[in-house]
Amino acid sequence: MNDLIVEAAAVITVDPEWKIHEPGYIAVKDGRISAIGPAAEGKDRPAVQRVQAPRAFLMPGLVNTHTHISMAAFRGACEDIPNRLTKVIFPLERDLVTRDLTYWSALYCLVEMARSGTTTFADMYYFEDEVAKATDKAGLRAILGETVLGHAAPDAPEAYGGIDYARRFIDEWKGHPRIAPCFAPHAPYTVDAHHLEKVAREAESFDVGIMMHVAEMDFEHEKFSKLDGTVLRYLDSIPDLLSPRLLAVHMLYLDEADIGLAARRGLRVAHCPASNAKSGRLICPASRLQAAGVPLGLATDGPLSGNGMDMQGVLNLYPKMQKVREGRRDIVTAREAVRTATLGGAEALGLGGEIGSLEIGKKADFILVDLDDFNIQPVYDWYSIIVYAMRPHNVVSTYVNGRPVVKDKRMTGFDQNEVFKRMNQIAGSCANYISQISL
Ligand SMILES: [Zn+2]
Repeated sequence: MNDLIVEAAAVITVDPEWKIHEPGYIAVKDGRISAIGPAAEGKDRPAVQRVQAPRAFLMPGLVNTHTHISMAAFRGACEDIPNRLTKVIFPLERDLVTRDLTYWSALYCLVEMARSGTTTFADMYYFEDEVAKATDKAGLRAILGETVLGHAAPDAPEAYGGIDYARRFIDEWKGHPRIAPCFAPHAPYTVDAHHLEKVAREAESFDVGIMMHVAEMDFEHEKFSKLDGTVLRYLDSIPDLLSPRLLAVHMLYLDEADIGLAARRGLRVAHCPASNAKSGRLICPASRLQAAGVPLGLATDGPLSGNGMDMQGVLNLYPKMQKVREGRRDIVTAREAVRTATLGGAEALGLGGEIGSLEIGKKADFILVDLDDFNIQPVYDWYSIIVYAMRPHNVVSTYVNGRPVVKDKRMTGFDQNEVFKRMNQIAGSCANYISQISL
């Protein structure tokens, strides 16, 4: 007996054969996909619960490979300022980030992510145990990294205190069915070589991942290119750091040799086209990394740098930016873009065997998207619809482990209006500080 069967106008699988069942069904048992195929084949299968969605399509949940969801309280503050990281973000975090703000901002973004169809995300911030609590409550799947910095952080007054914090965080959350804790050294320019080596050793002994911003900033590129040629070649001089354990975020300042190096070391990459564009940075050679065999997923980045936490925004932008970068219309097809936002993201997070596509045995992480709306019709090509037409408001339901986290656009686990109210209170308490710092 299946726990659940969902029938939909189309089921887009993103499996190795690119199968689309139109109409189709998916069956779930114990949180995993137990059967999938044309709707007619699902009619006679027994199920405890049956959902009919004849005017919606079903696809794998979206995977957001890099966020800082607890920065929701700061969204829209201090835009368009050069050197915003050191001028605005670090002081703002030092003075305003508390456990309470971290938890409620995280929960706020989790509502936004879940309601727009994200089922899995990767996050790095301070008080990451609060992000874990919020994620647990919301029901999403996540890789969560505690930030390590070479100067005082909101949750660690001593430089590199984040390493001890991360150890405690990992001990507390390792083994959770949906949440995998890890280390998140901030960047090569805020964490020195000695401590990056230490983090690499710690990650190995805990058997967890590492996530880090890599080759994002112009000053970072200038600093390391003088001695080592590029940021990536500098990082390669640190024992054991460049390995399949590392999720490298951004990866903008790369030459051809770096792309080969990333592939040889087994790096995984989070590509943030919207936040990079807003900062006026380079365009990541994402399609070249993929062609070299590097697992690569898409990401919004945090709400301060990427603003919208829906994946539709970046999924729409990603192929366009790659076409501009390469000067070719035929590069990054809509179908390839859909794969990057789902299975590609899962592979980038080391979860490609469990999620990212709809195949028997995989975890039942999927979304239902409404077809009855002006922006989404007509449908000639499902992949084109998903990349260029789908908007966050089209997502109706979001399932993780076969359980509806969002049903009819509302969170099922808690009162989303309460979260909205708490965010307004928190934003009110930050407003004065933000208006002063903007001057
Ligand atoms: Zn980031």
